[in-house]
Amino acid sequence: MHIDARNIENNSIIEGDICIVGSGAAGISAALEFLNTPYKVILLEGGGFEYEKQMQDLYKGKTTGQRYYPLESARLHYFGGTTGHWSGFCSTFDAIDFKEREWVPHSGWPITREDLDPYYPRAHKNLDLGPYEYDVKYWQGKDPELKSLPFDGDAVYNKMWQFSKPTRFGTKYRDTIVKAPNIHLYTYANVTDITANENASAVTQVTVKNLAGKQHTVKAKQFIIACCSIQNARLLLASNKQMPKGLGNQHDNVGRYFMEHLEIKSAELWLAKPDVLKLYHWEWEITKARAELAISEKMQRKYKILNGTASLTPLDIAKNQPAFIDMWTADTAQTKKNFAKLDQANKDGAKKEGHRSYQLFTRLEQAPNPNSRVTLDVEKDALGVPRAMLHWELTPLEKHSLRGIYKIIGEQIGITNGGRVRLMDYLRDENDNTWPEFTGGGWHHMGTTRMAADPTKGVVDANCKVHGIANLYMAGASCYATAAAPNPTLTLVALTIRLADHIKRKVKAV
Ligand SMILES: Cc1cc2nc3c(=O)[nH]c(=O)nc-3n(C[C@H](O)[C@H](O)[C@H](O)COP(=O)(O)OP(=O)(O)OC[C@H]3O[C@@H](n4cnc5c(N)ncnc54)[C@H](O)[C@@H]3O)c2cc1C
Repeated sequence: MHIDARNIENNSIIEGDICIVGSGAAGISAALEFLNTPYKVILLEGGGFEYEKQMQDLYKGKTTGQRYYPLESARLHYFGGTTGHWSGFCSTFDAIDFKEREWVPHSGWPITREDLDPYYPRAHKNLDLGPYEYDVKYWQGKDPELKSLPFDGDAVYNKMWQFSKPTRFGTKYRDTIVKAPNIHLYTYANVTDITANENASAVTQVTVKNLAGKQHTVKAKQFIIACCSIQNARLLLASNKQMPKGLGNQHDNVGRYFMEHLEIKSAELWLAKPDVLKLYHWEWEITKARAELAISEKMQRKYKILNGTASLTPLDIAKNQPAFIDMWTADTAQTKKNFAKLDQANKDGAKKEGHRSYQLFTRLEQAPNPNSRVTLDVEKDALGVPRAMLHWELTPLEKHSLRGIYKIIGEQIGITNGGRVRLMDYLRDENDNTWPEFTGGGWHHMGTTRMAADPTKGVVDANCKVHGIANLYMAGASCYATAAAPNPTLTLVALTIRLADHIKRKVKAV
């Protein structure tokens, strides 16, 4: 069922069993889990069904620290959320990503990779991915041309990625959601406040506003906030009537530990003779699976480095390409043109016989850092909510890790005479506090309501429930304690399905 919140009587009171705020990858995945159940689900989406400039304006905010994309362009504010933009790169987290690593401050989750194992195949379906297979041998069995670069698998291995179409959640799931009798989707229903009871032990209602000047109240038994990491933190911080520092923020953790993936060109790989390296090749909307070079757990421990992977692009194509951070602007039309040009250059530059040199491009987890954070500005948006401010801050461990990754890859490829690796100048500079102009992120927002068993160290528990609040859950990558190397959406959908299963068990037991 679909209701436009601009068209109902002002000050309406809407009631349901489960209220989900936000309809991106996380919110829609949560709603789908309750399809055809006896529970009345209220799904609140701030925007409509299409992109609108005035909705994006609600996302505007200041950024400080490491240079970042304009916030109003880094996320989409309408039904389907940022899956309207995403590229569909997916891979699973590794076991080490969940462990406490003594060389990575604040690392460690209260759950393990095994806890997510049952949920990854279910997430795969939501994202229209192929078979749940991440062993390179499976893909090589299907195509013998997928030959690996030579290296010792104990040090470097081929980590597989799979590619979603990419699934646009707003297009794919709109009919299913709108036709579901027990799901009540409200568009133009921007949540501006979460209200808890007097001692802030449970949420009683949320306030919804829109630019048409209407305001409504939504009451439910369970609340799931799925607005993506920056908005998730912003909403908790702005909901400060019962707790002056914001809901769930009694230990000053909400908004902290904001993490991105560093996506940055780092080195060159020179081969003895040209090769297409098909196993590592990616083509937009064509490639189903490909490998990136990854570092084994043993080597991460030995060199005390973060987890990261290297992808390969022919050097004569890559060397003329501007960095993402320079191509992605607040002007959506211009950004589209820039990326179309990039795709064309990739197609035009590919040689049948392959290439002798490749650019090695890293996707690196950012170490959890309490100073990398989202806070509230004094300036407010058109609905009266304080705007978000993002301070993105890296640590020397990231640069040390980048250098370590290419030392290991270089040694491995060198030993086998498979080729030579040449570091870019900025990695030869031993000052780990400096970053080149082209440093950027992957538009992956993670970690602002981090998961921790100890309420003093995080915002949510192992079930994504806000510590101390009986019925308030956070969905999405804001719950990540560490970022791992892979793009976040597959894992955040798996985590959301796990959260939905937990709520199903909880409401059944009542
Ligand atoms: C250019 C680009 C490329 C990307 N490529 C990849 C990729 O290849 N692989 C990958 O894994 N990830 C990728 N991502 C990231 C991916 O898009 C996100 O991880 C994913 O969309 C997050 O899902 P989400 O549901 O948490 O948030 P979103 O998809 O952002 O959804 C949040 C929803 O909440 C709504 N909302 C926000 N505030 C409110 C409010 N107050 N009240 C009501 N509703 C609200 C929004 O309108 C939106 O519908 C990419 C992102 C970008 C920008």
